[in-house]
Amino acid sequence: MTNVGRCGDWIVVGGGIVGSALGYELARVGFSVQLLEQSPAPANATRYSYGGISYWSATTAFMRQLSQEGIALYRDLSAELDIDIQFQERDLLLTIEPGCDPAAIAATYADCLQPPRLLDVSTATDVEPLLNPDAIAAALYATHGHVEPERMTQAYQQAMTRLGGRVEYATVQDFLRMGDRIQGVVTSAGTFTAANVVVSVGGLCRSLLKKVGVTLPIYFTQAEVVDLEPSHVKVRSLLMPAVLKRFALEATAGDIKNDAQWDVPDQEIAPPILDVGIVPFQDGRIRLGQISRVCTTPRLVANATQSEQEIRYGAAKLIPQLHGLPGAWGSCLVAFSGDRLPLIGTLPGLEGIHLFSGFSNPFALMPPLARRYAQHLKGSVDQEMAQFEPARFALVDAPTP
Ligand SMILES: Cc1cc2nc3c(=O)[nH]c(=O)nc-3n(C[C@H](O)[C@H](O)[C@H](O)COP(=O)(O)OP(=O)(O)OC[C@H]3O[C@@H](n4cnc5c(N)ncnc54)[C@H](O)[C@@H]3O)c2cc1C
Repeated sequence: MTNVGRCGDWIVVGGGIVGSALGYELARVGFSVQLLEQSPAPANATRYSYGGISYWSATTAFMRQLSQEGIALYRDLSAELDIDIQFQERDLLLTIEPGCDPAAIAATYADCLQPPRLLDVSTATDVEPLLNPDAIAAALYATHGHVEPERMTQAYQQAMTRLGGRVEYATVQDFLRMGDRIQGVVTSAGTFTAANVVVSVGGLCRSLLKKVGVTLPIYFTQAEVVDLEPSHVKVRSLLMPAVLKRFALEATAGDIKNDAQWDVPDQEIAPPILDVGIVPFQDGRIRLGQISRVCTTPRLVANATQSEQEIRYGAAKLIPQLHGLPGAWGSCLVAFSGDRLPLIGTLPGLEGIHLFSGFSNPFALMPPLARRYAQHLKGSVDQEMAQFEPARFALVDAPTP
């Protein structure tokens, strides 16, 4: 197979928000970067994301510090990348269903950097006049960061190419290996070599890492959304449930006791959940979500028509004006790790291969972590990066030669 890629410093595999941000940060500190993405228009998690930046929700000292670095970074990011990523600080309402105890739910947010404020129904409908007062018992209010995820991804990629980085559309099928050292990748368009390869393929990380014989607790949900076209209905705020079932689903599915099941095809590890989300974008589109499933085979097993009806029904209960608006169903894989922390660092037992993935909710913490990691790799040692090393998990399989 022909070597089409020059020998450089870094190959980044995956051009979603995570690989694109890291590619830019690596180029920014002076490395040569080749980013490989399998599709010019990927139906990836970034494409279907809400783009919310929950910087207010950090609970530990280091996560609070990262969140503050992150929001400061966002405030300048459009200017730095020279593309408007549509960053805004917006009203977020975390809806509380009738029959629930608002004070008890508010208390679960008490440790947050900026705990959201409990609003009664009337105040919540002042914030979002289209909200159906009969559909909630109360709401929590926070100021949430928001971006257009695909614009942000393109902005990172274009800024990286201005710094000399390159983007190629090619599917990585395997790795070039000499003993324990990874020297490049084999793709649908030929081989690419580099001193280091970093894997950022979101929900497909687990299967790609199998090519080097590594099994790590990185998994995926299949998410389903409905994208409404711009219309006369103007929703002001972002709406999500105060009790997110997705995190509980990830905790169950990511329990190490279930790890072996992830290598058996077509296993549904836990029942699907619906977290009703309503997220308006600046161009008038409204993203409705989100059903999450945990099936071990990356292809989706859902009935799209039924899923679309469920998502639309949930959203129209909160904002009746959304009923019947034209839109389209979509789905994608979203990566998550076994302990809710991302996996950042080298793969144990191998050289020249890194992982930068497993951010279930990357928008708040990933940009500052990509910046720190690139600086760390350039030689400014950052002790905080150790907590994200994949080696924190005992390898389920040792790398095979
Ligand atoms: C409905 C929904 C709402 C969300 N809301 C939020 C939110 O408000 N805030 C937040 O922080 N997060 C949110 N998320 C999560 C967030 O969007 C994702 O975690 C994030 O987009 C993942 O980015 P990624 O780059 O890791 O993966 P992806 O965006 O999936 O990108 C991975 C890329 O790798 C490519 N790839 C895969 N295999 C190969 C290969 N072999 N060779 C080459 N390329 C390959 C794929 O084509 C893809 O483009 C949401 C997700 C969904 C679905």
